[in-house]
Amino acid sequence: MKILLVFAHPESRSLNGALRDVAVQELRTQGHEVRVSDLYAQHWKAAVDHADFPPLPPDTRLKVAGASKQAFEADALTGDVKAEIEKLLWADVLILQFPLWWFSMPAILKGWVDRVFAYGFAYGVGEHSEKRWGDRYGEGRLSGKRAMLIVTAGGWQEHYSARGINGPIDDLLFPINHGILYYPGYDVLPPYVVYRVDRLDEGAFAPIAQGLRERMRTLATTAPIAYRQQNGGDYLIPGMQLRAGLGDPHARGFALHVSHEDAVEAELNLDAAE
Ligand code: FAD
Repeated sequence: MKILLVFAHPESRSLNGALRDVAVQELRTQGHEVRVSDLYAQHWKAAVDHADFPPLPPDTRLKVAGASKQAFEADALTGDVKAEIEKLLWADVLILQFPLWWFSMPAILKGWVDRVFAYGFAYGVGEHSEKRWGDRYGEGRLSGKRAMLIVTAGGWQEHYSARGINGPIDDLLFPINHGILYYPGYDVLPPYVVYRVDRLDEGAFAPIAQGLRERMRTLATTAPIAYRQQNGGDYLIPGMQLRAGLGDPHARGFALHVSHEDAVEAELNLDAAE
């Protein structure tokens, strides 16, 4: 497979740098082609502004979505953005790797998404009708590909559990997994999250690296998170609410958008294949 790893840490000699090297080495050992976008090393421009849209005359009022659409259609996005889009189209699997900063991704990575996920490419795709609301949430330009997060966190695993003070990790990562990756079509694998990393001793690194190698070996076979497809019949159109009778009647929020029926079926299929 072809794999793109987008790395968002300012220090190559960090724990994240060491884990990136473990992942890349394991993937290459498995015979995969790997490319790395090292955002700090590339001096990635994180903030969207007028300069991102060369066709737009300098004194024109900037409307980002419209300018993005126009520039994407005219093949006139800036060279750095076009290079990242080319990598996304090339890759069968996208991996985003970052330390959890303020319960989310570092700004440089958010800025990569803001600029690279252009209108007409990652959003604003497909027809709107009584049956469809564009190609998104499970459909889109990046469908058929897989994506996954590698995340390190200072906090304890318990603090990110279902009743933990920080909120469940699946909820914190939902805007990235569902809102950024599933939206343009990726099948999103469960994340590889490493907790309590700030005072790691030498002995702790080996099992973390081993767990990551295992995840890299199973990229093609790991069952994706069973997010519900927007146009698959689970949602009312145009209201986009989950149909009555679907999901746990007591559930609220993000968990409603994961189909537990599909998750059980995927696990059964995996068991049968093994
Ligand atoms: P490093 O600092 O590079 O290393 C961490 C530890 O691993 C050190 O003890 C180091 O000696 C050891 N180590 C590094 N490399 C190796 C190696 N090769 N072998 C063995 N040991 C090694 N955490 C949260 O949980 N939630 C938050 O919201 C949050 N917000 C943050 C916001 C900011 C601005 C910052 C700076 C931190 C925040 N943190 C938060 C903590 C953050 O997630 C961790 O500091 C980060 O994940 C650590 O990853 P790193 O690569 O920077 O580790």
